[in-house]
Amino acid sequence: MAVYWWPSSMVSLLEKWMRNFIWTGDVDTLKAIIVKWDKVYKPKEEGGLGIRRLRDVNLALLAKQSWNIKHGSSRMSDFLKARHLGVDKWLGDLSIKEQLNPEESFFSDFNLKVAVVISNFSFPLVSSLFMQNVFTTAESINLPQCEVEDRCMWSCTSSGVFSSASAWNEIRRRNPKVHWYSLIWKAHLQPRQALFGWRVVNGKLPTDDLIKLKGVFLPSQCSLSQSAKESIFHIFLQCSFSMEIWKNFLKCFGVSWNSHASVLDLAIWWKRKQRGLAAKEPWLAGFVLILDNIWKERNDKRYEQRMRSPSLVFKLVKSDLQEVDINLSRLAI
Ligand SMILES: [Zn+2]
Repeated sequence: MAVYWWPSSMVSLLEKWMRNFIWTGDVDTLKAIIVKWDKVYKPKEEGGLGIRRLRDVNLALLAKQSWNIKHGSSRMSDFLKARHLGVDKWLGDLSIKEQLNPEESFFSDFNLKVAVVISNFSFPLVSSLFMQNVFTTAESINLPQCEVEDRCMWSCTSSGVFSSASAWNEIRRRNPKVHWYSLIWKAHLQPRQALFGWRVVNGKLPTDDLIKLKGVFLPSQCSLSQSAKESIFHIFLQCSFSMEIWKNFLKCFGVSWNSHASVLDLAIWWKRKQRGLAAKEPWLAGFVLILDNIWKERNDKRYEQRMRSPSLVFKLVKSDLQEVDINLSRLAI
């Protein structure tokens, strides 16, 4: 497969379409409140949606093409595939040729194979500490007795076999793993519920406070309690309506409610708390299902003028838990 360097304008356009499609289902429509693309294209364990950045994918495919050229059977690959003493990186991140000063050149032929040098070369006494180390390392290598080809191994996989996935993993920018990963992606949720939980943890819902930040003026009031201005913090962590649902759920596990500075803090606490619980599955899934039902209730009250009590919403959480096949028999839910 021929791969070429994808033009930056094409990468930007494709990523814009991907971004729009994720949020609106339409490549041409953009949503106002979205999670930044930088956060989206990380692996799920690192807080993203597991989408790969196109430039990284392009580089990984180019690396695969280069590897195939170097290790294939074409005339060009025959020319390139030998592992050479001076120009290959067999002894660290740089080749010997790259690390040597021109006057330190002991080998007239840097293209000698490493195996040939180890077997046949008489190492000279040298003052260069670097070259002494090279010789000591070369002398200490025991070449296999059987006929084994001296060939390059791909250092990013344990088998030494090249894979585009390992090249991508090496190229991409890495991020620390997030503690709340399993709450969203390992909790037996439907994809829509998991995506919603991910948006809340990232603080991106179209609540009044965030819409105002976009320059839109609107009067703000919590639709659930009518007692405060609307924000993600109020709806999920402060509102008396939501508190009743959280506390009802926690009571089933014998856990007391703690106050939290953000939904992210709550997620981290929730994840930690599951360690001591016997019924882990309903606990883990309950986190997003409660968030989801609170938000649905907020939308129903705001746009449909439908009114449910907190205890009725709690019953909906319970029914959602059963729908994702979680056994509640061990709990007093
Ligand atoms: Zn409220």
